[in-house]
Amino acid sequence: MVVVDEAYIEFSHGDSLLRLLDGRPNLVVSRTMSKAFGAAGLRLGYLAAHPAVVDAVQLVRLPYHLSAITQATALAALEHTDTLLGYVEQLKAERDRLVAALRALGYEVTESDANFVQFGRFEDAHTVWRKILDRGVLVRDNGVPGWLRVTAGTPAENDAFLDAVREVKKEQST
Ligand SMILES: *Cc1c(COP(=O)(O)O)cnc(C)c1O
Repeated sequence: MVVVDEAYIEFSHGDSLLRLLDGRPNLVVSRTMSKAFGAAGLRLGYLAAHPAVVDAVQLVRLPYHLSAITQATALAALEHTDTLLGYVEQLKAERDRLVAALRALGYEVTESDANFVQFGRFEDAHTVWRKILDRGVLVRDNGVPGWLRVTAGTPAENDAFLDAVREVKKEQST
């Protein structure tokens, strides 16, 4: 079996692999409502696969694994799919703006198909993380030496982040 995790597919520049499912019973594509639907608290995902695979998964999944509240909330979210996926378009544009702005500042930025951006390189990423936090912006130091990760937010939040980074950069070069 090959399981392709498409948790961030709505944020991707590329294509879903759903179109490859036909005739490939060994392929499973998994998705979640956590990211594009902004519903991480729901813990609701789904998969697409050959009917025989889906049947097998039905046999081993826990009974009553989705609460009535989760189901009702998910249905409500699905009724607002257009609005929620509209926010994704805004986030993608903001993510691409962050990538361009960070590169213009001279940072390395890894290509992103998600709602977050990895940037570096820093001699001491944790110190930079702290300085950005001191300016009121929380990014993530996920332990990759020399790199930090920032999640795209609202335009105002992203501006605050970029201002903080510019200040820290100026401070370090003086
Ligand atoms: C968020 C995420 C998931 C899905 O997690 P949920 O339990 O549905 O919130 C799966 N894979 C990756 C890579 C993710 O980032």
